[in-house]
Amino acid sequence: MAVKPYDPENIFAKILRGDIPCSKVFEDDHVLAFNDIAPQAPTHVLVIPKGPYTSYDDFATHASDAEIIAYTRAIGKISAAAGVNEDGYRLIANTREHGRQDVPHLHVHILGGEKLPLMLPKA
Ligand code: 5GP
Repeated sequence: MAVKPYDPENIFAKILRGDIPCSKVFEDDHVLAFNDIAPQAPTHVLVIPKGPYTSYDDFATHASDAEIIAYTRAIGKISAAAGVNEDGYRLIANTREHGRQDVPHLHVHILGGEKLPLMLPKA
């Protein structure tokens, strides 16, 4: 089954265009980060590239070096600013159907602020 192309009507594309609001925690030329609308931990931030990438593998293959550096550095800056570095946190990038990705624009979840459940309980 072919990987779907980028859908410019996905909800994070609308946030990037300013069509719907978000609770912004970080922005630079290549990256936007905002609080998840349905947080699953005391800290739950979503970090997205501004470019139209569906997944981490799409991003790693097609993004410029500048975008990849900015995204990686932003995740580090945001975790520090959120105050979760010392006690720790989890990064998650759900990808396509088996990864249960709901929004088809690359996003990394930063989850922390409490001791998280073990990974991968059976759904
Ligand atoms: P996924 O399942 O694709 O990895 O995660 C998508 C995440 O986006 C979910 O945690 C969901 O709560 C969040 N989300 C969906 N719609 C919105 C929205 O309109 N605003 C914000 N801030 N988060 C959203």
